[in-house]
Amino acid sequence: MRMDADLCLSDDPSDKPPCRGCSSNLVEPYIKCAECGPSPFLLCLQCFTRGFEFKKHESNHKYEIMTSDFPVLEPSWTAQEEMALLEAVMDCGFGNWQDVAYQMRTKNKEECEAHYMKNFINNPLFSSTLLNLRQIEEARTADTAIPFKRHQSHFSEIKLST
Ligand SMILES: [Zn+2]
Ligand SMILES: [Zn+2]
Repeated sequence: MRMDADLCLSDDPSDKPPCRGCSSNLVEPYIKCAECGPSPFLLCLQCFTRGFEFKKHESNHKYEIMTSDFPVLEPSWTAQEEMALLEAVMDCGFGNWQDVAYQMRTKNKEECEAHYMKNFINNPLFSSTLLNLRQIEEARTADTAIPFKRHQSHFSEIKLST
């Protein structure tokens, strides 16, 4: 499908379309929307985990994880399970393996944790994503310490004139 025949193909990684969210060069694994097209709607993991939305692309669209390596890492994990695991970790929170496994249904708590640790935590891109998410989380919990102002309400007795 080479449309520009006179365009010189180089090994420059910038040949790949950039992330639609932050315009960074995509590094595997990245996310391809399965519903937007025909030109591929690609997102880096950071933008994906933030639920980036653009024009007709919504964060609840079906997606594919574009990577050349992780399906071969564990033959017992299908691409669907990999996606379900990522989704479950995003929904339930990192470390909440009990709920992650419950949402996954096909894998138990130990399998989810071991698989995630092995395939995603050792991935520098994923680690930085998780770190960012944790920092956001910490910032958010720090913010909740808003001084609570109490309004004293005075009950005045209403005397009904008889
Ligand atoms: Zn991005
Ligand atoms: Zn989309």
